[in-house]
Amino acid sequence: MGQGESRLALGALSQSMTEAFDILPTAVVVIAADTILYANPAAWEIFEASSGSTIVGHSVHEFIHPLDQERVVSRIRRAEAGGVRNPTTEFRIYTKKRNLRVIGLTSCSVPVGERVGVLATFLDMTARSAMEQRLLHSDEQFQRLMNTMQDVFYRTDVDGITRYVCPSVVNVLGYQDSEIVGLPAAAFYPNHEDRKALIEAIKAHGYVRDFPGQMRCKDGRIIDISISSTVIYDENGQFAGVEGIWRDITERRALERRLERLASTDELTKLPNRRVSLDVLEKCLDTFKRTGTPTGICIVDLDHFKRINDAFGHLAGDKVLQHFAQIVQRELRKTDHFGRLGGEEFLLILHDTEAGQLEEMGRRIVQNVAGEPFPVSDKDTITITVSMGVTILKPSDEAASAVLSRADAGLYAAKRGGRNRLCWHLGRRLR
Ligand code: GH3
Ligand code: MG
Ligand code: MG
Repeated sequence: MGQGESRLALGALSQSMTEAFDILPTAVVVIAADTILYANPAAWEIFEASSGSTIVGHSVHEFIHPLDQERVVSRIRRAEAGGVRNPTTEFRIYTKKRNLRVIGLTSCSVPVGERVGVLATFLDMTARSAMEQRLLHSDEQFQRLMNTMQDVFYRTDVDGITRYVCPSVVNVLGYQDSEIVGLPAAAFYPNHEDRKALIEAIKAHGYVRDFPGQMRCKDGRIIDISISSTVIYDENGQFAGVEGIWRDITERRALERRLERLASTDELTKLPNRRVSLDVLEKCLDTFKRTGTPTGICIVDLDHFKRINDAFGHLAGDKVLQHFAQIVQRELRKTDHFGRLGGEEFLLILHDTEAGQLEEMGRRIVQNVAGEPFPVSDKDTITITVSMGVTILKPSDEAASAVLSRADAGLYAAKRGGRNRLCWHLGRRLR
């Protein structure tokens, strides 16, 4: 195919000029009366034409997308009217193979023989346009997600100032995102130490998962949150802030606390149960081995409790257990542990207590219980007594079980000795 076929009556456009266009990498067409008079090889490529002859002589309307016709034609008219150079405009064309493309076109008027034509140069913008579409689409998705998600996405800068928080934060904290952005994130933490611990953990590991914390809502409520965040670095690898999500776990934490309480508390007396009591004893033994702080241990067992059940019923027996627990609790200090080992058997752990104080406290409990009969009805009372085995932690104690056996031996001795009394281990009777 000769170049002559791709040029029609170009008149004033010199041969040397079109020869220059022929080697130009930018697509060039010359149009007059809406007919393509010239197209360079770069234009053929965009139009997916095998040669210039399949384009030249054709109407521009063949190629322009119907929805863009009006806009393009008005530009051609404007260029034809003379003098103007139309700024780049994007529109859709159909190629010879009927593929849709987006081109960015600049045009100006050019004399074509007696007429005024239009010289247009253009670039294939399809890829960029598709990318923009994708960007727009993904941004729309991001915004939709940020507006509806139950978790809160946030980003803070190097100074801990919130730079972004998703709009759905209003559903959790009651604040609009605009009320939070620009303020230090720490301002919303009731406990500033929490925020410090979080940042330290993030800096140390690069991220945190399910880090616990609390936040203060606009209405003053404190909520439990769980944070998963990652460090952001700038292009020089310097710490630039933090981004991540946090979630309101108030309900979950409340449930967990309830379950913890249920799993660790004795229903009837509301005292710590056997599992917790043995844990406390283990811990005390560890502490004792490190510090040598004197620690007293008592096992308390109600005397002839079976008889109370038999005589007054199980329900009355339950009330007696509660009555006993209250009497003991009155004597205790904050640091003391009092738990139910099971049945009518209880464990007392008295921190920082020498043998003398331990005995004094034990005796007082034994006396008080015996001195406060339980009013089983308006008329009747039940006198209850307890036996108590006591011991203190010793450096040779290897395990909690050894301590319990010793206290148990004391209890056995107290029972054998006539009940309503306290006995030390090794059967050393004290009253
Ligand atoms: P001892 O002086 O030798 O300790 O005699 P005891 O009758 O107190 O001891 P025993 O071990 O023979 O009986 C304990 C009774 O405690 C038997 C059991 O039914 C009763 N008991 C255990 N747990 C509960 C409870 O939660 N409520 C009631 N009402 N009774 C309980
Ligand atoms: Mg008993
Ligand atoms: Mg018992």
